[in-house]
Amino acid sequence: MNFEQFSFDRRILARIQAAGYVTPTPIQAQAIPQVLAGRDVLGLAQTGTGKTAAFILPILQGLIKGPRRRVRALIVAPTRELAEQTHQAALDFGRDIGIRSVSVYGGVSKSSQISQLRRGVEIVVACPGRLLDLAHEGEIDLSHVEVLVLDEADRMFDMGFLPDVRRILKLVTNRRQTLFFSATMPADIRRLADATLKNPVTVQIGEIAPAKTVSHAIYPVPDKLKKQLLLALLEQTATGRVLIFTRTKYRARNLARDLAKKGYRAAALQGNMTQNQRQRAIAGFRNGKYDILAATDVAARGIDVSDISHVINFDIPDTVDAYTHRIGRTGRAQQMGEAFSLAGPDDAVMIRDIEKLLGSSIERRRLPDFDYGNFVPEQQFQGAPAKRAQSRHRSASRNHYQRRDNARGSRRRRQPQARQSGR
Ligand code: AMP
Repeated sequence: MNFEQFSFDRRILARIQAAGYVTPTPIQAQAIPQVLAGRDVLGLAQTGTGKTAAFILPILQGLIKGPRRRVRALIVAPTRELAEQTHQAALDFGRDIGIRSVSVYGGVSKSSQISQLRRGVEIVVACPGRLLDLAHEGEIDLSHVEVLVLDEADRMFDMGFLPDVRRILKLVTNRRQTLFFSATMPADIRRLADATLKNPVTVQIGEIAPAKTVSHAIYPVPDKLKKQLLLALLEQTATGRVLIFTRTKYRARNLARDLAKKGYRAAALQGNMTQNQRQRAIAGFRNGKYDILAATDVAARGIDVSDISHVINFDIPDTVDAYTHRIGRTGRAQQMGEAFSLAGPDDAVMIRDIEKLLGSSIERRRLPDFDYGNFVPEQQFQGAPAKRAQSRHRSASRNHYQRRDNARGSRRRRQPQARQSGR
């Protein structure tokens, strides 16, 4: 299967090839023909499945014909990062057909967004709050929107955007098509989907569960030893790009600072940073300036950095959905990834829930040669398997990163080194 079968305009096809996409991902294979046919789509897909291209490519195809310089496609996303990345995809794939896109979100000045809207655009990718502001100020006319995309609807709900989304729905009453994406389907989201979609096709990628290309492990450890264990784990593991999740903004900031002091190329990504600081952190992570990003859940949403080798839960998340979202950052686009969770005795209940979601128990590991003091990792989470850490060569994914690391030379050391792959 390849992208030629969808009969995209050759200028779009050329951009798909330039992006290096050869085979459509399962959600693209299922959703693209339906979107091209004008159907409403309910897409149950987590991030990392290729869902952005699944909707942006057919939308661009549809915009080739018809009027220009009016807003004909509106994509609503929960976070600025996700909005920015979707906007970037629209620009990249739409470059040769002259389709204009603008990203609209708060935390930055309105003036540039307004001037782009006044010049005329066909696609708006927006977060709900700023979109409504601009609509109420008369700066954006949504009456010509033909296609509406609600992306990561469950996240929008979690973040309290549902009332805003309802207001937006009232402004785009002339639309012909609605595409609704969500990784999970709690009752409120189901109701919203039912009320919004007309005779939709449901496109579901596997279980609503973490990607199968990720292997999971738990390192039982008391809270006071977490930082030392993390450092030892990073020392002993061949890693590529590492995304570490913490429970709070302060823990993300402090952890990034401590890792940097130890010589790692690490940055924080958390909500107290300005939009510019966040973008610099993400760009640095993407272009290899940083190997490690210490992030909170909210700040990390929508990071589109492929090739993350490890997601480490420095703190176990509060919900199983958050676990799915966190580890959705690795194992993307058919690559292997590893998800490590540092867990204390208090995390037993959440771990059980995560295992239920995964449908299997997660391997417990003890880090060899680490001084656990009086703590006995094997005695944690009674009844669960407590295996010793596998040797490096027994893990396929680790071998992969080991090889890559060897090829590049270790990048974790004090002296920053240019990436050799030029990514
Ligand atoms: P998404 O789920 O849209 O965030 O996409 C996840 C990652 O997969 C992004 O880095 C995309 O650029 C990449 N990707 C999407 N579709 C394909 C494809 N057909 N082939 C290779 N990579 C892809």
